[in-house]
Amino acid sequence: MSNSNFTFISDRQKGIIPAISKVFPSAEHRYCLRHIHENMRQKWRGEFLKNLLWKCASATTIPKFESMMEEIRKQDSTLFDWLKQIPPKHWARAYFTGARDKPVITCLEYIREYMMKRILVVHKLISKCDGPLTPNATKAFNTIKSEASQYTVIWNTSNKYQVNGPWSDQRVVDVGQRTCSCRRWELTGMPCKHAVAVNWNMAVNGIEVGIPESWVSKVYWLDTWKKVYQSTVNPINGKDLWIPSTCPTTLLPPKHHKQIGRPKKKRKKAVDELNQGVSKNGKMVRAGNTITCTLCKDIGHNKRTCNGQRQNG
Ligand SMILES: [Zn+2]
Ligand SMILES: [Zn+2]
Repeated sequence: MSNSNFTFISDRQKGIIPAISKVFPSAEHRYCLRHIHENMRQKWRGEFLKNLLWKCASATTIPKFESMMEEIRKQDSTLFDWLKQIPPKHWARAYFTGARDKPVITCLEYIREYMMKRILVVHKLISKCDGPLTPNATKAFNTIKSEASQYTVIWNTSNKYQVNGPWSDQRVVDVGQRTCSCRRWELTGMPCKHAVAVNWNMAVNGIEVGIPESWVSKVYWLDTWKKVYQSTVNPINGKDLWIPSTCPTTLLPPKHHKQIGRPKKKRKKAVDELNQGVSKNGKMVRAGNTITCTLCKDIGHNKRTCNGQRQNG
């Protein structure tokens, strides 16, 4: 199923963009405008251009966005060209989908429509399934069954079975408790290969046991999936037909509380970022610079700390 309901916001660090599109192929990816501006500032400075950038990014419609871009082109065509090469879907609100940044009613309507579409997608999927398990569970259970065929079973005439496998693995299955000593059955709710081997052994010996799937927890059944998605979301009329609320209360925003202390401005750094640029003794290092000794031409120390490494070593 698609992951289109995710949106990522990044500072365009190398590697993040390909990584996100790999893991969430249909997710939206937005760049943090502050970081775009940070890069822009290296070449194009000034409040005026900064404000124009902001106006482009926050324009809610494509024509508005384009007219603001036109303003930029008139001011500085090199900046216009530079901005053009960043796909607008990543930084301009006019090209964003989703409802995160919309008013609350629009946002709720977006979610309601999303649910309607989602239920339809799942219904279509279910109609293509034969059961008795869901497609993913069927796949997993088929693997278990193909492995189970390689096991031999010894019955102790009560509820317990000893199961021997080709990889000298020997486990105990308790059919009464529905457990196996490999613990997979209890943990996943899906019988392990040992339990499936026992199920077949029971069937062969004339014990009425049912298909191995009947031992699989109900959470993996197609019927359960159907039940989860059986409710529907009602379609509703457009806003112009909505009846004004008779509720007499006017909702006011909560009182603004001034927080104690100076507001933090620095971005919170990740753990690995914190250690960057600091040497073992806690002092700052000149990152990226490799020093070369002027005396012995060796790298990694300077002439002050030189003791003729190259000659000695
Ligand atoms: Zn097992
Ligand atoms: Zn040296």
